[in-house]
Amino acid sequence: MTSGKAFTTFLTILGLSLALATYTAAQAQPAAPASDSLKVTFCGTGGPLPIRNRAKPCTAIQAGGHLYLVDIGPESNKNLMLWRMPTATVGAVFITHLHSDHIGDLGEFNMQSWVAGRPAPLLVIGPAGVDHLAAGFNEAYAADHGFRRAHHEHDGVKLPIDIGQITARVVTLPAPGEGGVSEQVVWRQDGLTVTAIAVNHYPVTPAFAYRFDYKGRSVVISGDTRKWPPLAKAAHGTDVLIHEAQNVAMNQAVVGFLEGAGQARTASIMHDTLTYHTTPVEAAEIARDAGARALVFTHLTQAGLPIFTPEAFTKGIEAVGFPNWRLADDGMTIDLPVGGDQILYGHL
Ligand SMILES: [Zn+2]
Ligand SMILES: [Zn+2]
Repeated sequence: MTSGKAFTTFLTILGLSLALATYTAAQAQPAAPASDSLKVTFCGTGGPLPIRNRAKPCTAIQAGGHLYLVDIGPESNKNLMLWRMPTATVGAVFITHLHSDHIGDLGEFNMQSWVAGRPAPLLVIGPAGVDHLAAGFNEAYAADHGFRRAHHEHDGVKLPIDIGQITARVVTLPAPGEGGVSEQVVWRQDGLTVTAIAVNHYPVTPAFAYRFDYKGRSVVISGDTRKWPPLAKAAHGTDVLIHEAQNVAMNQAVVGFLEGAGQARTASIMHDTLTYHTTPVEAAEIARDAGARALVFTHLTQAGLPIFTPEAFTKGIEAVGFPNWRLADDGMTIDLPVGGDQILYGHL
């Protein structure tokens, strides 16, 4: 036997042995039951401006065998696909508000989850205007869907045009009640309840936060808002508050730099953003007042700045007395197993 042949024989035997061992192990160990949990995956944690390694806002929730999204900002669909998220199992996409950085990848997500075998049209739930959003993307992608169907629909592969559509459910929240809270349950399925909560992102109105409750575990996603005490009431007792945040000192530093560089227009726009976002310290106050167990910052518009560090971003937060916080990044996960109180952080 030549050395080449011997090596080939060795590989064959090794392969057979490994296959046999795998088969034997599979026979000996019954599959462990899939753990039931409420799971969060951050599919976009940046802001409207480009930041390497951060897509624009997108938070994925998995519960009861379905995938849900809160916002689907530009670049976030790429994350979902690279991570092999089960897009065909999508139950609904919840939109917080209609700023472009929260909606830009809706057409791509719709197309890709349709091609992946989604069994029904994509349901989008959100404030007034999501009906126009759906209609616009449907029109923009009509030619694409026709091309894909014409080319790929054969030998058992079906791409029904009607399944490839986005359908919208507009939510109109009731007048504020006790504590200024305006909220409404907008989803109930397979143990999951989703509640839309009015927040204050004026002049962007209406704007929603969303609370996800699943078998005793919960997360609240703030959407975009200035500090809004009613959100603390609506988020009462949640496991994890996921809150947007913007640091005022960093904003002022950038505005000063832009003015010094002769970019008055960009400086003016930057300065405007202070009026409708929440500072990290204020978000910690909301988490504390809500009795949340943990706080995670997302939508980190300033994370791309050279002056950004977690310490500088959260300066002054110690005084709030809510130490259990962290910053999200793309790919970070939070797992909340049902039947316990663990908060398990991970990363894809
Ligand atoms: Zn916004
Ligand atoms: Zn935003």
